[in-house]
Order: sequence, then structure tokens, then C-alpha cells
Amino acid sequence: MPARPPAAAPVLAVDWAAACRRAADGLRAVLRDAPTSRERVVETGERGKGGDQTLVIDQLAEDAVFSELGSLHDEGVRFTAVSEERGVVDFGDPDVLVVIDPIDGSMNTKRGLAAHALSIAVADGHTMADVAFGYVLDLGVGEEWVARRGEGVWLNGAPLPEPPPERRLPDGRLELVALESADPRWVAGAARELCEHTGRVRALGAIAVSLCQVALTRVDGMATLWRCRSVDAAAAQLVVRESGGLVEFPGGGGPLDAPLDLAPHHPVIAARSEEALERMRAVASANGA
Ligand SMILES: [Mg+2]
Repeated sequence: MPARPPAAAPVLAVDWAAACRRAADGLRAVLRDAPTSRERVVETGERGKGGDQTLVIDQLAEDAVFSELGSLHDEGVRFTAVSEERGVVDFGDPDVLVVIDPIDGSMNTKRGLAAHALSIAVADGHTMADVAFGYVLDLGVGEEWVARRGEGVWLNGAPLPEPPPERRLPDGRLELVALESADPRWVAGAARELCEHTGRVRALGAIAVSLCQVALTRVDGMATLWRCRSVDAAAAQLVVRESGGLVEFPGGGGPLDAPLDLAPHHPVIAARSEEALERMRAVASANGA
């Protein structure tokens, strides 16, 4: 007799969405207090554990999230936080990971561009495949994406509607594709593959936000042109997968073997069909990442 699937994982017994919403309120307050580019551009003078220059707003945003994590810990919840600025912080359980990017799209945030998000994932293991809960709050358009493993996706609190099919040009290219890590050298490096596989590209500037667009086929595919860190993609990749889409971290053995740590290991690609994913794989691997 085949083994029965395990009952609902204990990690999903915690009301992570409520904790994320409280953290989001804290983040909104940080951004309200620093409404202009002039205030948001201030750097702390340090680099976060993820390697980027830390902005004061990054740090305050992270403080808002960690304040909620501290409350959860006080309530008896045990986990380990993996966060862009502070790195790995022990809250009592090494096998439950809370993977946080307090602001995905920091450059957009500091310059006043729309696409920026709070991204929080919860995993009962150490790879992308183990993510059980994903929360992405796109602060630009005010969209809240929540995904629970095996249960689906909620957009602004309502079950995600059936996404439309992907769109192709008559020659088979994908009509519209989101790119991230759009350093012009990497765009140039992938130029041939982009011409071959895409009709138009969008570079929003926030990996989590771009990935979520695949969940509703607002784009027909998504690829980073270089290696991404788990904090950027962990939550949104579950949003895509729970919407029925496909995600892969190419070059990592299994498609979802990418570790939930702070190092950039692999690009991330997403699409709604195997064939489209194959095209995104070609784009993402063009620079040899
Ligand atoms: Mg960030």
C-alpha cells in the first residue's frame, strides 16, 4: 500500500500570514516616515549579509520584521531566520527556516519607483522545495500574495482565479517576459536568446514582484540573468508553483534544490508550460551563471 501523505505540516499550524501582515504594517510605517528619495537613499555605511550596501530603510524594515519574529518566539514558535541584512539568526529550531527580504527592490524604493515588496517564506527544510508558506506584499500596487503548500494562492485575501493561458507570437516566441538582474552586460550577454525566445521584455527591478506576475500569466515567463539569492525568490517561487506554474533554479541538480541561505547560487526561472520554461532556461543560462 502506498504511504499516506503526511498530515498538514506543523509549520503551517502557525498563523504566518497574520505575523507577516503585522510586519508589513511596521514596514509601511518605515516608508511613511521616509517618503522621499532624499530620505530613502541614506546608507548605513555597511553591507548586509547578502552583500548589498545597506540603506537605513532596509535596516529599519528588517527591524520591523524581526520585532514580529521576536513576538512569535515569545509565543513559543521556534525557527531560524535567514534575512538579507542580519544573516542567520537562531530562534530555536534549525530545521524551520524563515527566509526574509525586508525590501525586495531596494533601488526602486529609494528612487520612488513602484515595484518593491516585502518577501517572507517559511520552510520545513533547507531548500526551495521545502518552502511551505510564502508571503509577498507588493507595496507598489498594494497586492498581497499568500501561498500555502498544497493549498493554493490567495491574492488580496481571495483565492487566485484560474490564470489565462500563456501567449505566443506566431513564430512561437513568448509575447512578454520579465527579466531581473538586468545589468546591461548580462542583458547584452543574453541578447541572442532574448531575440529567439521573447517578443517583449519588462525589467521591474524586484525579483519577488516579477515572479508573482507569472502566477496570473501577466508575463509568459520570468528569468534572472544572473544568480539570485534565496531571500529574493523563496516566497514568490511558491506563489508561482501553487498557481500551477513551473519554477526552476537551473544548475542546482533538481529544479528546486537551491539552498535557503544567503549566497547567490543559481538564476531563477518561471513559466506556465514546460516549453516556455525551456526558453527561459536558455535565457538564464546565456551568461554562464
Ligand atoms: Mg532587499
